[in-house]
Amino acid sequence: MSHRVPMILGRGHKLYMSASRQEVVHGREHFGRRLSALHSVLRKVASGLVRCIIAYAAGFQAIRNQYSAERLSKCQIVRLSRMLLYCRENISYYRVSLKDIRIKQIRSPEDMVRIPVLPKETIMRTPFRFLSYRMPACTVYYTSGTTGRPMICFRSQASKTFEDAVAIRRKWNEGIPLHWSRVAKISIGNHHLKSPMSDVVLHKRHIGLRQGVSCVQAFVVSEAEAVFDFRPTILCGTPSALRYFAFECRKRSIKIRPTLVWTHSEMLDSISKEIIAEEFEVPVHEDYGLFEFGVVASSCRFGYGMHINADNFLVEVIDASGKQTYERPGRIVVTALHNFAMPLIRYETGDIGVLSLEECECGSVLPRLKQIQGRAAMSIKTKTTTITPSVLLEHFALTEGPRLFMSLVEQFQFVFQEGKVIVRYVGKKVGVTEAEQIMQAVQDLLETKIQVYFERFDSVDAILNQSSYKHSQVLDQTS
Ligand SMILES: [Zn+2]
Repeated sequence: MSHRVPMILGRGHKLYMSASRQEVVHGREHFGRRLSALHSVLRKVASGLVRCIIAYAAGFQAIRNQYSAERLSKCQIVRLSRMLLYCRENISYYRVSLKDIRIKQIRSPEDMVRIPVLPKETIMRTPFRFLSYRMPACTVYYTSGTTGRPMICFRSQASKTFEDAVAIRRKWNEGIPLHWSRVAKISIGNHHLKSPMSDVVLHKRHIGLRQGVSCVQAFVVSEAEAVFDFRPTILCGTPSALRYFAFECRKRSIKIRPTLVWTHSEMLDSISKEIIAEEFEVPVHEDYGLFEFGVVASSCRFGYGMHINADNFLVEVIDASGKQTYERPGRIVVTALHNFAMPLIRYETGDIGVLSLEECECGSVLPRLKQIQGRAAMSIKTKTTTITPSVLLEHFALTEGPRLFMSLVEQFQFVFQEGKVIVRYVGKKVGVTEAEQIMQAVQDLLETKIQVYFERFDSVDAILNQSSYKHSQVLDQTS
């Protein structure tokens, strides 16, 4: 049996750290006699209602923020100063790193360059140096570990409340009624949810009083009929799951008509977006989210990139020398303004993106991430340059052979290895002409004669990344 070491995190909360399995469970400490079942239910409903009211208040404030630049910048700076002061007082790591910083002089995003960038490795080495001395109620997350080892992070209630506020703003912007919605979460197989079956069952019974009052149900792709019966207002999931689900619905002639399809956690390529939008006959909304933060940016309703939730995050894009850059690709650095459990200041996300301050036609004053090109660590190195996964897929989407391939197969993955490229896919066998065109496109991109092999699988499970919740359509295994 694993040995668990309890740590007191705050009044009524305990964190259990298992020394052998690195498992952390966050729970409430029970004082005295157990509460009666009725008392417990009433307390849950009451706390749900309170959280719902707070989420709506924050949601309406978030809606107002997106229409006034002055209001947004004021709210961002007040929240940033409050967070920096909190960090210097309560977090062991920032007591040292912010010691010589004059916080009162940080009045705009440009001033943030005075604070050093925080690499992921620093947190992975010493995660507990980032925990607050005044630990608030929080939720524990593991990052998916797409680029290696997973990381543990803690998010406070205030950060979760803002996530609900963003969900309310998203509904408002998409014209979905705020008072009620049915959300169907689609996933590929239970293993892909990375949670035990009991969690899924629990999730199915969950009727949330938050996120603009939703009934949330989790389904796996094979449950297409059950999703149809559920009549979802919102269909959400990773792009790989929704793409596969679209093919499944087409095969079984099941017509699901939600008001919105919403993707998260993975990069959404333009071909998958077309497939999903065509099948469900609705716009596809994309979120840029990170386990460490929640939803950082959401699709512009006019389709001009993604609007940053600047009332909760300060997002910078920096070049190789560490200077802030606009309208050009660079490393995305994020500061969270509401997470008081494990605050991350100038955290390097490992993603490449393009930040723009240009006015948007949709009327929102929230700054925009014009493009998110994916993980820097997953980029493909050619003779002359480095190509990010999204640039590679967009190039393929504009080339006849690869475009046809990407729109017809149920799922695919380009695996770059030393001296060769393996195209793994599920679906109809690739024809000779198509294969040649794909090989030509890969060779043009890498500027070298390289062999392309095709591997066909019967099941999507075979090409999904078993160690991570996210599927990568481009995989670099050259080093
Ligand atoms: Zn816009």
